[in-house]
Amino acid sequence: MMGTIFDIKRFAVHDGPGIRTTVFFKGCPLSCQWCHNPESIDSKPVCIKKTSKLNGREFVNDEMIGYKVSPDALFDELKKEQVFMEESSGGVTFSGGEPLLQHEFLFEMLQLCKAQAMHTAVDTTLFSSWEIVARMAEATDLFLVDLKLIDDQMHQVYTGVSNTVILKNIRKLVSGNVPVRIRIPMIPKVTTTPENIAMSIAFLSELKGGIEAVDLLPFHNTANEKYKRFHLDNQFMGRHSLKKEELTTIKNQFQEAGFTVKIGG
Ligand code: SF4
Repeated sequence: MMGTIFDIKRFAVHDGPGIRTTVFFKGCPLSCQWCHNPESIDSKPVCIKKTSKLNGREFVNDEMIGYKVSPDALFDELKKEQVFMEESSGGVTFSGGEPLLQHEFLFEMLQLCKAQAMHTAVDTTLFSSWEIVARMAEATDLFLVDLKLIDDQMHQVYTGVSNTVILKNIRKLVSGNVPVRIRIPMIPKVTTTPENIAMSIAFLSELKGGIEAVDLLPFHNTANEKYKRFHLDNQFMGRHSLKKEELTTIKNQFQEAGFTVKIGG
């Protein structure tokens, strides 16, 4: 089955252990207001206008975001970095977008990697049916699971969907055999409020045994340019990242609750 992806990032060091190649799948059922990959949300390839300047003249070109690829063709791409993956205990991370939206293609990719002993991670929101999550758990080595907001109403406001199925799937997943790292985006005044941090710690503390680590992902304004290019409304334009001391305070709170914590992926 063909898949639709929009990018391949080589030599990634924040998407799981070691040196990794990260594949970005197209399509996401969420619409987080701070999304750093807004071009990933539409599940189909899209054509955008790209403006560039040369010698004072402005040029407008069409640029396709996303393309279809077969499992074998993508695997050939992944194999190019296999030696670096092996030497660094790294592997491949399937991200997005939401990779579980293309679960048949994802499953094929996981099986191809497994057959070559290539370590895999699935970076997901878990906004999916449990049957799909459980099937992927049979084939991957690691889950990187986004946890954004515990309050369901807030979750709906900021991501467009309820978190009920997400929290339910996290509970089930951590009681299985596949390691889970929880990744919390540090979105100022949204996910980093004292209330959300306290509720996140309380929720995860119930599951502690099954969580390998908690990653606190700093918010960056790097997507501003993309929002401009795609003519999208950027509600987080100009919002500042948390200061180092603020991130450290949150890190300490998780550590005091007994978690292994890292700032960054
Ligand atoms: S889950 Fe990730 S890719 Fe999807 S909208 Fe949110 S930030 Fe963007």
